Amino acid sequence: MRATRAVQALLLLLPDQPAQGWTEGAVEAALHQQGVAVNRVTVYRALDRFCAAGLLQRSVDGQRVTRYWLAAPAAHDQAAPHMECSGCHQPFQLGEGSAAVQAALQALRQALAHSGVRNPTLDVAVQGECAQCAAETSPPVSSPPSGNSP
Ligand SMILES: [Zn+2]
Repeated sequence: MRATRAVQALLLLLPDQPAQGWTEGAVEAALHQQGVAVNRVTVYRALDRFCAAGLLQRSVDGQRVTRYWLAAPAAHDQAAPHMECSGCHQPFQLGEGSAAVQAALQALRQALAHSGVRNPTLDVAVQGECAQCAAETSPPVSSPPSGNSP
């Protein structure tokens, strides 16, 4: 697909956002400079897709020019807790607990918003032992004397 290359080039390009934001024309010109052949439709379609994905935010200025702005990194929107096992350094597999953790973080974000904190960035770090390491390091379950001793 021809659009794919344009989208990839666009992804690399977007962080170089001009102070006044991106416009379709600016994006198209910048892509042409990189030797990526795109037309208006492709650029608009890609920009729309990025907007839908939450990567870009769209605004219309006084001259009715649509401008595109890089949205805050997605990682900041969805607080991704950094959870690592101190034993094997693998990320915890939360399974069923994952939803509860996400809900708790969401509640925390909402509480911060209610307190007037704008765009909070949560950096949650959890250290501990995963179930597997805990099983390995815990002392063996003491078994009752087997009765073989004299
Ligand atoms: Zn572990």
